[in-house]
Amino acid sequence: MKRLGLVGLAAIASVLALRTDVVRAQRPVRAPLEVYFIDVEGGAATLMVTPNRESVLVDCGWPGLGDRDPKRIEHVARYVLGLERIDHFVATHWHTDHYGGIEGLAKRIPIGTYWDHGVPETLADDPRGYQTLISAYRRANGGKSRALKPGDRIPLRDAGMPVELRVVAGGGKVIGEGDTAGPMSCARHRDAPVKDESDNMRSLALHLRYGKFDFLNCGDLTWNIEHKLACPQNRVGKVDLWQVTHHGAPQSGNPALVEAIEPRCAIICNGPRKGGDPRTFATLKKTRSLEGIFQLHRNVTSTPMDNAKTTHIANPEEKCRGEFLRMTLDPSGERYSVAVGGQMPTQTFAVR
Ligand SMILES: [Zn+2]
Repeated sequence: MKRLGLVGLAAIASVLALRTDVVRAQRPVRAPLEVYFIDVEGGAATLMVTPNRESVLVDCGWPGLGDRDPKRIEHVARYVLGLERIDHFVATHWHTDHYGGIEGLAKRIPIGTYWDHGVPETLADDPRGYQTLISAYRRANGGKSRALKPGDRIPLRDAGMPVELRVVAGGGKVIGEGDTAGPMSCARHRDAPVKDESDNMRSLALHLRYGKFDFLNCGDLTWNIEHKLACPQNRVGKVDLWQVTHHGAPQSGNPALVEAIEPRCAIICNGPRKGGDPRTFATLKKTRSLEGIFQLHRNVTSTPMDNAKTTHIANPEEKCRGEFLRMTLDPSGERYSVAVGGQMPTQTFAVR
């Protein structure tokens, strides 16, 4: 080192400075927050990436089908986003379309922490299927997962502005349940005629907040628990972006919740023949706050009137390439856009 002398050191320093500049030029100081709605054809797989490049995958699609869904998730994580791992995986609930792909995915890309609403011994909805899939889940995570309940937070590093991912529902309960009732009675919204006892009602519901931007993903939470989130008190607040609950199935999408959260943009993670139901669409069309509705798939069983605009549908044909939808928050935190796949944004919205 001594022999290099001052000139040599200065030369090394200038090369290092130059290289740092090149890296800075390639990577903006604060990359935007992004949410990818990956097409798993009637399941769910939502990948959130913070400006720190911390990643949270909520649900991971179906098993089998030649690892179709793990491959699609890996494609987005590794090749679209350049991630080498997924930091957090959340299973909203124990239905095949939400965690079935986990073993295939864990073989393709390392996964950090696993979160769920608790691992029951049995599942009345699907006793045999559950034993097979929960064994695969345990093989993927070595039997280690952490249970979340309403009020918990998944720890994420601050990214310029604080970023918070909190659980607003889980295990059939909602955040703040039992607190004194607020001013909103919601008397006009009735309970569903048939009480849902399936694991859908125990879905984790996650609220992501970064700066002023709010995103809500309730998994497959059903009508009566959605109602508890909104009445007698709005437990969530208003949101910018809403992942329409339960693929847009009619057992969910309670107007009480939709009216309370006043989303500006709604994204339906449906399949060509699953979800995106005309009854849910009727609720969305009546929601005055909504400026844009996107779908992963055109519902091929309903009319164009009960589908989003063609420009807002990622996969118009049933035989599809599995195109995703992408939400990008502007680095200012004041605007966000939604795009189909890697295309230019289809629509831009103001953050409230
Ligand atoms: Zn589902």
